Amino acid sequence: MAETLASLVAESRDRLQAGGIEHAALDVRHLISGLLDLSLSAVVSRGRDPVSDEDAQRIRAAVARRLAREPVYRILGEREFFGLPLRLSKETLEPRPDTETLVDRMIPYLRAVVARKGGCEIMDLGTGTGAICLALLSEVLEARGTATDISGDALATATANAVALGLADRFRPLLSNWYEKVDGRYDVIVSNPPYIRSSVVEELEPEVRLHDPAAALDGGEDGLDAYRAIASQAGHHLETNGVIGLEIGFDQKEAVTALFYAEKFRLREEAKDLGGNDRVLIFERDTNR
Ligand code: GLN
Repeated sequence: MAETLASLVAESRDRLQAGGIEHAALDVRHLISGLLDLSLSAVVSRGRDPVSDEDAQRIRAAVARRLAREPVYRILGEREFFGLPLRLSKETLEPRPDTETLVDRMIPYLRAVVARKGGCEIMDLGTGTGAICLALLSEVLEARGTATDISGDALATATANAVALGLADRFRPLLSNWYEKVDGRYDVIVSNPPYIRSSVVEELEPEVRLHDPAAALDGGEDGLDAYRAIASQAGHHLETNGVIGLEIGFDQKEAVTALFYAEKFRLREEAKDLGGNDRVLIFERDTNR
């Protein structure tokens, strides 16, 4: 007799719990929902439904990966960001809800540029899945984005995401180490660069340490290497009235503000993440200096 959904849910939850996975029941719901293309509530309400041997095998394989501390959405290969489904790959950071705060805060700046100029050129440095750039493009239809990454794998994923979301005609991928291959000036620069101190990367939870790409996390000895690179040439690549919006680590507000101050920028706006930590800084040129 075929197994039921309820028996597989229970078995999977027990295996994850026994393996010390904290939110075992929730993870199982999300995994099975994604694998079988069922809503989260259907995973519970359709408990009596039979599950084919093939689906049961897929569920057991996913549970084994979760036991090895692979995050749920990396197993599923996709995560929603700002309402957009985004494919993940080996060299892309899994987009986090905290980063939606940056998107949210940048939208009014893009709209103001569009009101003034009819369009808005965005530069996303270190785009990964394309999350920030694609979310901005999906919200502001007059905007165009150039997205850099040092990883060809990440750029291929970002491009595939742009195509899947119908945004490819306004999205330009650029293989570049920060500004290395960037020409010209942009109205808005955004980035969620690697900002974790090298010594701290080793202490992160296994889901992040083993499965997010180190290049997207490791900000060097003091965690600020990427901000130094981004600040040093921001003046060359930003339009006069442009703004630059960055995600930062919870304890980096002063240090990053000082780096940009040294390049004649001033803090225009800051925002905290959903957990109440400093997470977003937006800079503009300080025209009085
Ligand atoms: N916020 C991520 C984390 O906590 C780090 C992302 C980054 O370095 N940009 O793992």
